[in-house]
Amino acid sequence: MTARSRPLRPFWVDRVVDRWRSERRRRGRALYPRRVTRRCTPFVTGFAVLALALGGCAGSSDDTGRPDPPEDRPVVSLTYSMSSALDSMTGTERVTFTPDRRVCELVFRAWANKPLTASTGNSLTVRDVRVDGAALPLSVSAAGAPTGRPGTLVTARLPACSPAGTPVTADLSYAVTLGAGTDERIGYSPRDRIAWLGTAFPLLAWQRGVGWVTDPAVAVVGESATSEAFRLERLQVVAPAQDVVSGVGQEQGEPSSAPDGRRVHTFSADAVRDVTVTVGNIVRSTAKVGDTDIVLSLPRNGSRATAQEWTSRLTAAVTALEARFGPMPFPSLWISVLPAVTDGVEYPGAVQFSDVDPARERWLILHELAHMYFYGLVGNDQGRDPWLDEAFATYAEELVSATPNAADCRPAPSGVGRSLASFAGGAGKDDDYVDTVYEGGACALHRARAAGGAEAFDQAVREYMRTRAWTVAQPADLAYALRDLPEAVAVLRRAGALPPAAGTGSGVTG
Ligand SMILES: [Zn+2]
Repeated sequence: MTARSRPLRPFWVDRVVDRWRSERRRRGRALYPRRVTRRCTPFVTGFAVLALALGGCAGSSDDTGRPDPPEDRPVVSLTYSMSSALDSMTGTERVTFTPDRRVCELVFRAWANKPLTASTGNSLTVRDVRVDGAALPLSVSAAGAPTGRPGTLVTARLPACSPAGTPVTADLSYAVTLGAGTDERIGYSPRDRIAWLGTAFPLLAWQRGVGWVTDPAVAVVGESATSEAFRLERLQVVAPAQDVVSGVGQEQGEPSSAPDGRRVHTFSADAVRDVTVTVGNIVRSTAKVGDTDIVLSLPRNGSRATAQEWTSRLTAAVTALEARFGPMPFPSLWISVLPAVTDGVEYPGAVQFSDVDPARERWLILHELAHMYFYGLVGNDQGRDPWLDEAFATYAEELVSATPNAADCRPAPSGVGRSLASFAGGAGKDDDYVDTVYEGGACALHRARAAGGAEAFDQAVREYMRTRAWTVAQPADLAYALRDLPEAVAVLRRAGALPPAAGTGSGVTG
């Protein structure tokens, strides 16, 4: 199904997926035939006993031994210059990266031009890409963008090919238009005077060991961005003086004054894969959970829950996830509650949340924060292997909240390991995607854990997280971590999560 063969919906990715899941729950359409509401009670049987008794009751201690992000990771600097109405911005980007193979062009993705974001008026237009001061010839391909809109794939041909191992630095300028009331990762609310800018810059499309990732955007409720972890050397947001900015990583001092009276807000982050920023009439508050700073932003016009209620739920979620998966991979979590959007979208060290009641939507808080480990820390190609972050985030959410798992869960209707694009065109493609990748994927993981033994499985997952930290993982990497648990591997193979020949991965793919 193409993006234009049916009315476009003004929402996308986790937000949509998670909304459906919450609607199902509200409608009473059980995700599981039997619902167990307990914690560690002995009335469940079979796999569930194993899963709950051995793993679901107590948080595993975690000696992560995580490596630092790669020394030679890309380095990015961004400037966002906001318009007075917060309905557009102009941006600059400097990116330096060291390709591990010869390159003859530079490729960037303009994800704001994906079908469901473009349909609500958002756009990202790359004006120029320069290397050593010289503008490169640009080629922009739709790659899934609607006809007549800027494309998602921007290619800049280098004057001469550059050998592997040689750093390349490019300077870009670009313009972003925001869609009013967009129920999506990028947009703005004129009524509340808040803009949210997720993936609002040209994202370098390089993947170590793979090369340029150029898969078209598809109109399925999932995302297809892929990015190595990069060092965000500097993010400068130039915003009207009355506006507050919620950024990423560490804030670099107090905002300074620009010559035109606007304020310059500066941030940096050691390792992220993507960036979101919130600007406008918001109120920020901070809290500390262990070593993690939570920076919460609520609409100044009011929100369903108070800052205290949000902080309480966020704190509980961080504590629960850390008990099982180790310290949060990011020193700061920038949490934005947004007026026009639904449910949540994860970013490394940041989440965009809907204006929900966090006490009622505890699962949503857990799910999005679980993405800090599965997607943020252990990256994946979200178009090719969406289950590696979505199934794991759902699994983590359920494991931590002790939702029933192995015995009671609903298996995927088709292969868990399907790519996002493979769902395009099917009837009920979005429900199919959720059932297969989120729910079915989590079910496969719960059953693999029960089959392999919870303790051994947890240890293998920790090895996977440790060895693949700050990389873009592939299913073979998980198979390698599970190499001593053939029963678990067999479960994941049968579910189509791992390929038939899995178990022979090197564990080092780049
Ligand atoms: Zn998710």
